[in-house]
Amino acid sequence: MIKNELKSYLGRRDLKKTPEPGRGKYRPPWKEPVFVIQKHFATNLHYDLRLEVEGMLISWAVPKGPPEAPGTKRLAVRTDDHPLEYADFEGVIPEGQYGAGTVIIWDKGTYVNLRKEKEENTDMKKSLSEGKLEIWLKGGKIKGIYYLIKTGMQKDKEQWLLIKAKDEKIDAA
Ligand code: MN
Repeated sequence: MIKNELKSYLGRRDLKKTPEPGRGKYRPPWKEPVFVIQKHFATNLHYDLRLEVEGMLISWAVPKGPPEAPGTKRLAVRTDDHPLEYADFEGVIPEGQYGAGTVIIWDKGTYVNLRKEKEENTDMKKSLSEGKLEIWLKGGKIKGIYYLIKTGMQKDKEQWLLIKAKDEKIDAA
């Protein structure tokens, strides 16, 4: 489910005061959608995992970063959808602005929605609304199969687990 069509994100940004990309230029989807993991040196260091879905970046904050050992789980808190161009953003968000702190691109690549390969009509929107994603990440650092499973709500934030699959049925190319 696309949460709020960027309204929440744009509502919190003063685009005159931050160097970040703005308004969500749409472009035709790439053959494989992109993912990015940005390391964000905010008040609490975390990693932002973002997946391209229908022209936007669906996002989670992962405090400990993506797990690399098979079967390992990490907390992932759903955050605002971001504009697609944000996948290229690195820079400093000034003090006092939403998400203040330095952002670097920690990893980037493309992904495959593996549920769609197995079940007809299971696109990312359906996977998101069911709270169950199975994706093959093809990054520089992160390669392999991951699950994102929604576990509930805390305050008004969706709590998910990011899990590295136990066995890799796909040979990471
Ligand atoms: Mn962040």
